Amino acid sequence: MARVVIIGGGFGGLAAAHELRSAHPELEVTLLDRRDHFFMGFAKLWDLAGVRPLADGTRSLHALERRGVRFVQTEVTDIDAAARRVDTDAGSFDADALLIALGAIHAPAHVSLLDAPGAHDLYDPAALPAMRAELDSVVDGRVLVSILGGPFQCPPAPFEAVLAIDERLRRRGVRDRVEVAISTPQPMTLPVAGVDASRYLASHLGERGIELLAEHAVERVDGAGRTVAFTNGTSVGYAVLLGVPAASAPPVLATAGLTGPSGFVEPDPRTLRTRFDRVYAVGDCTHVPTASGALPKAGVFAASQGAVAARNIAAELLGGERARFDGYGLCFLELPGEQVAFVEGDFLAEPRPEVTLTGADHERYLRKQAFERERLDAWLG
Ligand SMILES: Cc1cc2nc3c(=O)[nH]c(=O)nc-3n(C[C@H](O)[C@H](O)[C@H](O)COP(=O)(O)OP(=O)(O)OC[C@H]3O[C@@H](n4cnc5c(N)ncnc54)[C@H](O)[C@@H]3O)c2cc1C
Repeated sequence: MARVVIIGGGFGGLAAAHELRSAHPELEVTLLDRRDHFFMGFAKLWDLAGVRPLADGTRSLHALERRGVRFVQTEVTDIDAAARRVDTDAGSFDADALLIALGAIHAPAHVSLLDAPGAHDLYDPAALPAMRAELDSVVDGRVLVSILGGPFQCPPAPFEAVLAIDERLRRRGVRDRVEVAISTPQPMTLPVAGVDASRYLASHLGERGIELLAEHAVERVDGAGRTVAFTNGTSVGYAVLLGVPAASAPPVLATAGLTGPSGFVEPDPRTLRTRFDRVYAVGDCTHVPTASGALPKAGVFAASQGAVAARNIAAELLGGERARFDGYGLCFLELPGEQVAFVEGDFLAEPRPEVTLTGADHERYLRKQAFERERLDAWLG
């Protein structure tokens, strides 16, 4: 029986495991992850916004066993891509095909910047209780969300977060005394979706009195003075600072010689195959160039890529048709009041990505909820 080893049980790895298990029971599938659970990134923001506790959107990876996927909770310590061998705390795993779906870590330099009083990593689930406590006790000063550099996961998420924070402060009745701001090194809110979409999002911030500091790259954080200094020479004070670190590839990938000049794994954009025979890579640990930059780091792409890579792995091992990643993506932009807009289109189109922003409505909010429910049920139900 041919052995497929998937490393990483996030969006990409789970979509691949599901695809392989549903279509190819003759393959032996093993999935390795240091965590024993999965939740979607946006579930963290629902927790922060007070919509729903994170635990309600969390599922155990042990549920994979019921689906005929062997799950091993372990740390991946080394990868020999040429030999398709993975070393872990639980021993070595040899594969006939290997799928790398290790996601991204938070850039260590940015995490260090946030080692200051009142400062937190907005994307760190472990920081949620402290962030909620700060937002529920702040009575004056400024809550500042700062994008610290790129690429960062899910481009709309920091803006969704600042809107949710505004809402939380309004519910507490302190919004008139607490300023809310967001800083980004980029010239506009959503470069990946274009100027019109960026203006649309900026207008929502403006309507709620949220200050947008564009072209503001953070240089340092002075914890004692609770001040953020920007490279353009300006600085602002904060009572609560929620930083969004850039994404970096997990160090094990560089050690294994799998990363390219981008710092990430650089598979073929359509087949997701790396330069190593029967070794594929998907999701946030990869860099996929587009006509205007790079594919955003988002779960929707990781999942579609995971399914494509799984079909190609099956074709290599068993024969049959190969698949190609079409570059289509549908990202959610959640606005207050249970409204969602879609940033949608062909991100790999030439000569430029064909991406549009739809209007926001409650029906799309329900589709976002269904997106989560359907995948959690299919992958880990
Ligand atoms: C606040 C927030 C909101 C978001 N909202 C959205 C959204 O609305 N829509 C959207 O599409 N995306 C969203 N995202 C982005 C999305 O979560 C990521 O892009 C997605 O998780 C990437 O999938 P992946 O499979 O590449 O990696 P991951 O889902 O991160 O999975 C990687 C897995 O690899 C494991 N791993 C890593 N290193 C090792 C190791 N050495 N040994 C063992 N295991 C290891 C990790 O434990 C993890 O389980 C959001 C992200 C955040 C932070």
